[in-house]
Amino acid sequence: MAKQPMLKFVTVDRDMPEKRDAGVRKDDFNEIYAEFAKAKAEEQASRCSQCGVPYCQSHCPLHNNIPDWLRLTATGRLKEAYAVSQATNTFPEICGRICPQDRLCEGNCVIEQSGHGTVTIGSVEKYITDTAWEQGWVEALAPSEERSESVGIIGAGPGGLAAADRLRRAGFQVTIYDRYDRAGGLLTYGIPGFKLEKDVVMRRNQLLEDGGVTFKLNCNVGEDISFQDIRDAHEAVIIATGVYKSRDLQGPGAGAEGIVKAIDYLTASNRLNFGDTVPEIESGELNAEGKKVVVIGGGDTAMDCVRTAIRQGAESVKCLYRRDKANMPGSQRETQNAEEEGVEFVWLSAPKGFTGTDKVEGVMVQKMRLGQPDASGRQSPEVIEGADYVEEADLVIKALGFEPEDLPTLWDQPELEVTRWGTVKAQFTTGATDLDGVYAVGDIVRGASLVVWAIKDGRDCADAIIEKFAAQAAVAAE
Ligand code: FAD
Ligand code: SF4
Ligand code: SF4
Repeated sequence: MAKQPMLKFVTVDRDMPEKRDAGVRKDDFNEIYAEFAKAKAEEQASRCSQCGVPYCQSHCPLHNNIPDWLRLTATGRLKEAYAVSQATNTFPEICGRICPQDRLCEGNCVIEQSGHGTVTIGSVEKYITDTAWEQGWVEALAPSEERSESVGIIGAGPGGLAAADRLRRAGFQVTIYDRYDRAGGLLTYGIPGFKLEKDVVMRRNQLLEDGGVTFKLNCNVGEDISFQDIRDAHEAVIIATGVYKSRDLQGPGAGAEGIVKAIDYLTASNRLNFGDTVPEIESGELNAEGKKVVVIGGGDTAMDCVRTAIRQGAESVKCLYRRDKANMPGSQRETQNAEEEGVEFVWLSAPKGFTGTDKVEGVMVQKMRLGQPDASGRQSPEVIEGADYVEEADLVIKALGFEPEDLPTLWDQPELEVTRWGTVKAQFTTGATDLDGVYAVGDIVRGASLVVWAIKDGRDCADAIIEKFAAQAAVAAE
């Protein structure tokens, strides 16, 4: 009888790729996890029990065919595993690195539920596609035919890029407009290199460019070109602009020098790591070196800020969050990484104001306790009277989340419908807005979300556009 290659979860323990020692990794911006060795990837993939109803797959926003590519990896058929993996995911190696797997695929793996430790789905996904790049299996983007219709995409983040990839493969003429000088959106300038090294993103951008996608960078829509001009130039337009308006803090001293926005801080650090000259780093404005840093917030952006500050050589790094560890929105894995690297978490603490005259010297902290659950079921933080104190700081980073910019006003498009949160109103399955030929995808529709959802939206929207033009062509041919 053939040897059973799968179901090894009973005899083989869960194992992650080797994580670099905190003392070493906190001195650079390289990724902290090594690659699986081939044998290790095969061994870890072989733990999958090949469920008939794979919950991992149903909880992956892209419905990746996880059991199949795990089986192919476990049996050494890596090129086929890559073919299956890339069929549903435009950027598998990126998702494998930065999806919060504990909340998605891995968090729903049945062997995790049975106490054996989840299959390390994300690490295997990353391994498959990194190997494909190394082996030259990632093919150039070659359209099946050239079509005359063109699509303009505003925003070169994962949502816009995923749509571009699919549309270009179908032969559309695709132009992406982005206000930054490099494509990738938050993959390039938001997420730090220790989670996602930048050459991983740049080689994807290059693949698209080599395949005929036109990038118009340093092009701020609404300033350098009007939305209407883009609409006039293309048969369809996709808005994929993400959400960039930072939530702010009020209170005495909130405008003092030394209190900065997370997105500015992270962008400056990423730019420096590209080798750019960054005046705000040189002046110290966005540089944590030698400083007492306090980051306010408990999400993934806050985790990226504290860990960046550690790498910049801060004297101390503290993270203030108004709830406790169990209730923080950020990934537990990233919180643990931050703790290992020397970040101190100050739970149940909220800022009330800031000390210092022109320049910030401290954060006035109110201590909190968790009270009754609110409408969402989460316990609301309540102030503990008389427990205030001052946390010393000479750099305060606000990481309180993001909201959409006011696109109808910025683009002089009052008829572009937005929700009460300011996100663009669009159909979830197609991205279609009420404006004819105008679609929207990613964070600008969902609010601050995840890379994998932006990819899904981009793919779905591209498919809807392809279908629409195919239907129009069929009618014209009748
Ligand atoms: P974006 O990636 O934001 O891209 C939008 C693009 O539009 C940008 O390039 C921008 O320059 C461009 N643009 C905006 N306005 C204009 C205009 N007027 N004209 C021209 N161009 C314009 N998600 C995860 O899954 N895992 C993580 O670990 C993770 N970490 C994160 C860390 C940080 C610090 C942040 C801020 C977010 C993180 N996210 C993470 C969320 C994730 O990055 C986003 O959900 C995702 O990038 C959204 O993709 P998008 O294409 O909708 O928008
Ligand atoms: Fe898991 Fe994300 Fe990969 Fe889906 S795309 S399998 S959620 S890591
Ligand atoms: Fe394999 Fe876990 Fe998915 Fe089941 S849920 S198919 S065990 S990865």
